[in-house]
Amino acid sequence: MSNYQHILVAADFSKEFDSVMAKAMELQKLYNARLTLIHVVEYTGAMYTGEIPLPEDLDLDQRLAKQAETKLQAMIEEHNLTNAGFQVEIGTPKREIVRVAEEQKADLIVLGSHGRHGLQLLLGSTANGVLHQATCDVLAVRVESS
Ligand code: AMP
Repeated sequence: MSNYQHILVAADFSKEFDSVMAKAMELQKLYNARLTLIHVVEYTGAMYTGEIPLPEDLDLDQRLAKQAETKLQAMIEEHNLTNAGFQVEIGTPKREIVRVAEEQKADLIVLGSHGRHGLQLLLGSTANGVLHQATCDVLAVRVESS
């Protein structure tokens, strides 16, 4: 197995995410790697198909992004993580996760096999999309339905 140096963890704040986070921390320890948590706010501006961005939508995106930053920071403190940081983006989760992994030169992406979008598919849509598009290794941690 590779000696991973930078692990990108996709955090969706679902209750299933705890087991994803536990696995990512295990790997960080094992490889003495850097850990970056990413959350993607998938909302209004991204969904709006018109030409002109709606100011109230953009504002909501920004507010959700701020909340996500606070949550990710709290997660880092709660787990006493060192050599760790976070990044929040607005857009489509699979696209942003892949883009940031390349930009940050992450060599492993860790995400849940399923998240808030449920278990309808064999592999959730985000996991599936990232698996197909990422240029680095991807670990989809099997999460069970509750
Ligand atoms: P899903 O496609 O909702 O089944 O989610 C599968 C996994 O993708 C989750 O367990 C997370 O690791 C990741 N993920 C889904 N949505 C997001 C998001 N908005 N931001 C970051 N990671 C996400």
